[in-house]
Amino acid sequence: MTGALGDSSLGFIIDRVDVGILVVTENLEVVLWNRFMEANSKVSTESIVGNNLLESFPDLPGKWLEKKVRSVQLLKNFAFTSWQQRPYLFHFKHHRPITGGVTHMYQNCTFIPFEGSDGESLVCITLFDVTDTAISHQEVQQAHADLEELSHRDPLTGIYNRRFMEAELDKEFKRVARYGGKLSVLFLDLDFFKKVNDTYGHQAGDQVLIEVTQRINDIVRTTDYLARYGGEEFAIILPETDTTGGLIFANRIREVIEKTPVHFGEHVIPVTASLGLSEYCEGVESYDALLDQSDQALYMAKKQGRNRVVCFLPDM
Ligand code: GH3
Ligand code: MG
Ligand code: MG
Repeated sequence: MTGALGDSSLGFIIDRVDVGILVVTENLEVVLWNRFMEANSKVSTESIVGNNLLESFPDLPGKWLEKKVRSVQLLKNFAFTSWQQRPYLFHFKHHRPITGGVTHMYQNCTFIPFEGSDGESLVCITLFDVTDTAISHQEVQQAHADLEELSHRDPLTGIYNRRFMEAELDKEFKRVARYGGKLSVLFLDLDFFKKVNDTYGHQAGDQVLIEVTQRINDIVRTTDYLARYGGEEFAIILPETDTTGGLIFANRIREVIEKTPVHFGEHVIPVTASLGLSEYCEGVESYDALLDQSDQALYMAKKQGRNRVVCFLPDM
């Protein structure tokens, strides 16, 4: 129905809209190709009308497109695909100046079946350029992911913070309590750290925290969780580790810290740490209780003279 509009006016409108419009037969022979399609594909209307779409565009998802066209014709129903399912149908360049590495135009597409004037079964495909929407959506998603990651981290050292570590420990704890397996928790506290701040200044203290973190980080496995638990106190979750393995690991950390003083300006700052270790066993009721055991072991390490590792024993 063109009403007061003749075919030429309709053709004019179809060419001027900022939407890709093409019409194909059930064999994907192109019947209509508007100016948007011409401009973005650099394939002229004259050269494509009457030809097979897939032959002109071998990069198109041929099987998927044939199925889509057939199904809308069969069901006589309109179909829609969004950029989230399929970023684009035609690989066109986008026209956005700054895109953060994106080079293609994101597209939403519709497939509308209809009957041609001679009764032929046709499908009109429309392409909407949704690059702006897609990119801002992705930027928001990325910002959310970055914020979430940041909320897990300690700003000074970049390692996990206490909140995230406790949440992970809770999961690990529930896993071993239910399915069995090993789990150890190590607490580490720097010795006489107040003296470092008092002698060399707070900035030097911060540098010590950063470098000690790096030293521990070099030793932990990727499956372990290293967290800054508080000021100069660190916690390490050691999944699949018993006290035998945990003690070896804890002593390696203790030795590295002792052997590698921190350089700050002209100062060479000696650092030592005390460590408390405990292992999950039946009867430990919660992850808090496990942390408490490691804390008791750490307290004993301090009491026994510092710069040592103590393993939790039930009679502590
Ligand atoms: P101990 O061997 O018994 O652990 O003695 P300590 O001096 O390490 O323990 P104490 O708890 O008395 O002191 C901890 C110090 O850690 C006090 C505080 O100023 C310092 N501290 C906590 N957080 C930071 C930080 O982010 N940066 C710096 N530079 N110092 C910190
Ligand atoms: Mg301390
Ligand atoms: Mg402390």
